[in-house]
Amino acid sequence: MTRKISEPTTFPKERAFLVGIELRGEQNFLSMDDSLLELSLLADTAGLNVIGTTTQRLNHPNSNTFIGSGKVEEISALVEELSAELLIFDVELSPRHLRELEQRFGENIRIIDRTALILDIFAQHAHTREGSLQVELAQYEYRLPRLTRAWTHLARQAGGGGGRAGSVGGVGLRGPGETQLEVDRREIRKRIAILKSELEKVRAHRTRHRLQRQRSQIPVIALVGYTNAGKSTLLNALASSDVLVANQLFATLDPTTRRVTLPKGHTVLITDTVGFIQKLPTQLVAAFRATLEEINEADLLIHVVDCSHPNALAQWQSVNQTLREIHADNIPTINVLNKMDLIENATQPYSELAFIPENYPVSALKKKGLKELTYVIESLLFESMVPVHLKIPYSNGQAISLFHDQGQVTKVEHTRGHIIFQGFIPARLLTSFQPYFAEITASNQEE
Ligand code: GDP
Ligand code: MG
Repeated sequence: MTRKISEPTTFPKERAFLVGIELRGEQNFLSMDDSLLELSLLADTAGLNVIGTTTQRLNHPNSNTFIGSGKVEEISALVEELSAELLIFDVELSPRHLRELEQRFGENIRIIDRTALILDIFAQHAHTREGSLQVELAQYEYRLPRLTRAWTHLARQAGGGGGRAGSVGGVGLRGPGETQLEVDRREIRKRIAILKSELEKVRAHRTRHRLQRQRSQIPVIALVGYTNAGKSTLLNALASSDVLVANQLFATLDPTTRRVTLPKGHTVLITDTVGFIQKLPTQLVAAFRATLEEINEADLLIHVVDCSHPNALAQWQSVNQTLREIHADNIPTINVLNKMDLIENATQPYSELAFIPENYPVSALKKKGLKELTYVIESLLFESMVPVHLKIPYSNGQAISLFHDQGQVTKVEHTRGHIIFQGFIPARLLTSFQPYFAEITASNQEE
């Protein structure tokens, strides 16, 4: 994988030392070393200077410091020798482990874990109102139980990695018998409540917006895939647009949508999404509901795989796992094997990816295989019909006439209040008819 050489900045980059950990018996998509490599790409994306790494295999986490006490000594010496300012653990540290580690390593070094690092990157790249609110909320929820030092520490932590926690106005007055820590916690809880209510407002607005788009009946395609797979490059190639492309993780966070005209003249909307990564903690998945909801409402998913990556298969599986978790696994999906131009020198033999269903080889960068891809998209969305069983209320005349216009009826049944249809609809209208999917159970007889 090529790595972008970081641009020189006027600020010296924070010097980070990484700690990879493998727990025996734990199932992971990536080996300890691959995971550490990814952590270092994440650190790079966050604007950090990775000055060294170390690893440890453990049977169980040490109850105090997660890593063993000998390892703590070893890292302490290294950190001093290399003048590291930041220690990043490639696991999620519990509040207790974090507290203990902070005590052992002292005031001069900041300690964060993989989750905190990802949150920092999300914070740097969140551009929409909703994205920013969600990231800030996730940061506070993550930090609340981990608040061990006074507010100054929190502010410093936020400033260093680009987080937003420092934006909280002032420190509240201490109530009778309250410690500074309690005041800080109270302030954070207050802020969390405010963020939640602001999010509700933004979401209500977005839902209205969505409904409008659905009514316009332009099919929506969501690009999904492991981070760095080439989603933004593919979108650019298909739409000749200029969505930010960077060989960095999470270069695009907020959904970016482009209108694309297919070879036979049909129009689709293609949405770029944030990349998936292994070990993305569930609280972060929740933080990106906006992006994920976008995926859920898509008529078609294009799953982009970097087939030149040695872990291409594991990445493909890991993305599928996340799609299952957000219940997006029943949306029709095309798998795109990207970066075919690199396949000669690939470590991962192409044959290992051949079993991936519905796969189309392309090179988004060299614009190879795109024409074929657009034909496949067009035929899937506009030419293939899927069988449905629908129950539509009489009051919803719009949906009924849409079915008569675009669908093929094989059986109609009238009940009190509803029409029950059996037949076929174009695949692109699946999402529009989703609210009316009939469960062939007692619900049909309820009236
Ligand atoms: P995303 O994170 O999935 O959006 O990935 P990007 O579109 O930002 O691409 C990540 C990196 O892969 C960039 O450096 C791209 O130039 C590179 N890339 C994307 N597609 C191809 C391709 O088909 N061939 C090659 N060689 N590189 C590609
Ligand atoms: Mg991207």
